[in-house]
Amino acid sequence: MLIEVSSRLNALIRKEDSASRLGGDEFVILLPETNSDNAANVANKIIESISVPFILEGSELSITPSVGISMYPTDGNDEQALLQAAESAMYRAKDSGRNQFQFYTSDLFEKAKRKLEINNALRGAINRQELKLYYQPQIELLSGKLIGCEALLRWENSQLGKVSPAKFIPIAEESGLILSIDHWVLHEAIRQMDVWKGKGLLDFTVAVNLSANQFHHQGLLAMVQNGLTQHSIPAKYLELEMTEGLMMDDIDGTVKVIDSLHQKGLKLSIDDFGTGYSSLSYLKRFKIDKLKIDQSFVRDIHSDPDDAAIVKTIIKLAESLGLKTIAEGVETKDQEQFLRANGCNEVQGYFYSQPIPPDKFELYIEQFKSQKQLNN
Ligand code: C2E
Ligand code: CA
Ligand code: CA
Repeated sequence: MLIEVSSRLNALIRKEDSASRLGGDEFVILLPETNSDNAANVANKIIESISVPFILEGSELSITPSVGISMYPTDGNDEQALLQAAESAMYRAKDSGRNQFQFYTSDLFEKAKRKLEINNALRGAINRQELKLYYQPQIELLSGKLIGCEALLRWENSQLGKVSPAKFIPIAEESGLILSIDHWVLHEAIRQMDVWKGKGLLDFTVAVNLSANQFHHQGLLAMVQNGLTQHSIPAKYLELEMTEGLMMDDIDGTVKVIDSLHQKGLKLSIDDFGTGYSSLSYLKRFKIDKLKIDQSFVRDIHSDPDDAAIVKTIIKLAESLGLKTIAEGVETKDQEQFLRANGCNEVQGYFYSQPIPPDKFELYIEQFKSQKQLNN
């Protein structure tokens, strides 16, 4: 078999090329003075040729080749680096279903390519109406009432499929696309509030996530104000979530922005609280309403005593500053009980509901209300 394969390989290459067997069923082909098109061409021919069944001692044998290609000097400067690169490309060819070739791509290159793809697709996402807002309920523990929801962005693209906001928001922030996305989110949330107001449902807050760009944008206040006025929505129903990082950048600037938003009657909360570097002395200068306890602490409340201690401390801190607390990422009854016992005000997480589209959210409100009536 090996001899058969060798002679097929030798028949395909030029006299200045060389084919050798590395060991086992692995062969190395060296193509000096070639480019990637030629290399791909040779790889295709190899795959075609090797895929033709072999007749050995009267039996027919078929094998499926996988080819990995590395290029000098981009993928390596010596034989070892080039071999390693070719090998990793070959494993990718195997993983992708065999019978094919793959070029070596470094992780960095792969990541940069993916980023570019996302950014290009994101550019037209608003016009193609690919963005949607989902809503996740927030519940007050003491009263058991649904007191709010968080608007979370969803993006589905025909080529890329569903892309998580955790992935595309940072890319949009880097490229500046975030400004038009943020603008869309804010207006879409307010438009949805208007729909709910029309149906007599709007007696809860809708929280929108603010990006750093948007927070530091001069037009933020006007944008919020215009949206609310246009739809006659009382400001108290709109909440803005900001992260610590975004606030601690420029304390004096932050105090000004927050003061102006607070004065308009908007609700403000600090998202992912505990994961950034909040300066406690500055915290009291911000006219905020709520701390959102990050889900990483909530997740391990029962398995990690440090996380339990952090959650308790955040609740105490909020109490002493006259702020409310909401825990995010609550997934179990046990977590809820711990939070209740320690005086956390509100909860949000899969235990109550995943983020859901607006029509489902309306159903949720109905079910939630009838459930409560049953319990009372
Ligand atoms: P975040 O603001 O911390 O949002 C909470 C994330 O936790 C959401 O992920 C939500 O779906 C998820 N989550 C909710 N409950 C649970 C739970 O019980 N368990 C677990 N494991 N996860 C839960 P999502 O929707 O993928 O959003 C990720 C992040 O993307 C958000 O984190 C936020 O930073 C950003 N983001 C989402 N929507 C927007 C937006 O409209 N504007 C901006 N600027 N950022 C957004
Ligand atoms: Ca959030
Ligand atoms: Ca969060």
